[in-house]
Amino acid sequence: MSESSLRVVWVYPDLLSTYGDQGNALVVERRARQRRLAVTRIDVRSDQQIPTSGDIYLIGGGEDRPQRLAAERLRRDGGLPRAVDNGAIVFSVCAGYQILGHEFINDLGEREPGLGLLDVISTRGEGQRCVGDVLADIDPQLRLPQLTGFENHQGITHLGPRAKAFARVQLGRGNGTGDGTEGAFNDTVFGTYMHGPVLARNPQIADLLLKLALDVNALPPVDDRWYEALRAERISAAQQQPA
Ligand code: GLN
Repeated sequence: MSESSLRVVWVYPDLLSTYGDQGNALVVERRARQRRLAVTRIDVRSDQQIPTSGDIYLIGGGEDRPQRLAAERLRRDGGLPRAVDNGAIVFSVCAGYQILGHEFINDLGEREPGLGLLDVISTRGEGQRCVGDVLADIDPQLRLPQLTGFENHQGITHLGPRAKAFARVQLGRGNGTGDGTEGAFNDTVFGTYMHGPVLARNPQIADLLLKLALDVNALPPVDDRWYEALRAERISAAQQQPA
């Protein structure tokens, strides 16, 4: 960790914050404060520079045009790749996930370069949009409970050899390639198609981000089970929805 207070950076709330993805920043802050960790939350609008000294960067989903604008500004800014070089953790959702890859198809139907922080490429699905509740098993290496989330995307994401699948879907589409993968991670960078907000439904993922940022193997337990009812409700909704 770069400074005494953990720096949580919420990237471009004005462009990338669909389906309450900003809740991810709130959950990371809360899980840190419950461990009595000092946290500084930094919201960076798209007309501001991305700080390079953050510990955890969170990026949300967005519609196709704001996604292109965000990618242009992030490429021009260059701060996020520098932060990753400094060892920062990045957790991205949907449009944010696609932007972190090598390229995606933008709102003009063109190939738009991403930041290349994740070894993935996104194309545009020809079929139906992937919409609905998802249930998936997270890579066992990460030792996390089942992933519950909500997806809504046209993009399809293909993993390159350096990226591992974040999870394998039991229900839902995930990366949309038909190979059962959902999301990706390599080094300290994570991407997922899951909204929810995903960290509210899966607060153990927020704990993983904190552990990586603090470089510790464990965190004190928190006396907090509010999320269990939400998880149970959404897992049951995923099981009941038509395939
Ligand atoms: N525009 C992207 C897609 O449809 C991402 C959508 C989103 O972030 N929900 O694939």
